[in-house]
Amino acid sequence: MEPLFVDAEQKIRALGHRVTTGRVLTLAMLLGADKPLTHDMMLASFKTPMDRVTLYRTLDWLVNVGLAHRIRAEDRLWRFIAGGGETRHPHFYCENTGKLICLTDVKIPEMTLPKQFKVSHVEIVFHGMCES
Ligand SMILES: [Zn+2]
Repeated sequence: MEPLFVDAEQKIRALGHRVTTGRVLTLAMLLGADKPLTHDMMLASFKTPMDRVTLYRTLDWLVNVGLAHRIRAEDRLWRFIAGGGETRHPHFYCENTGKLICLTDVKIPEMTLPKQFKVSHVEIVFHGMCES
């Protein structure tokens, strides 16, 4: 088995969840990616075709259990990244190359909200230019 598949399987098993082919293939693809991936990028890259609904469900599951997180860029499409689900962090978006990176060293402060208000997710994206 490819190391990425082994890695993906171990991460899922370590959380005590059921290991399925779809979960392993999806997480392995994110682990091997050098940039955040959209649904369409992933659907086009699977060697064994996966249907859209299964992929959507699997990605939602990965985000819920903290094995992946997602962000939206300029085009408003969700992009998925392995890991990082345990920390709230901003991202950097390069307006030249479209590169999107996690700024995991930057902490997002807690906000004081009106009573009964609850944050479901935070999205902070810095825009600019990367080194290339
Ligand atoms: Zn991130």
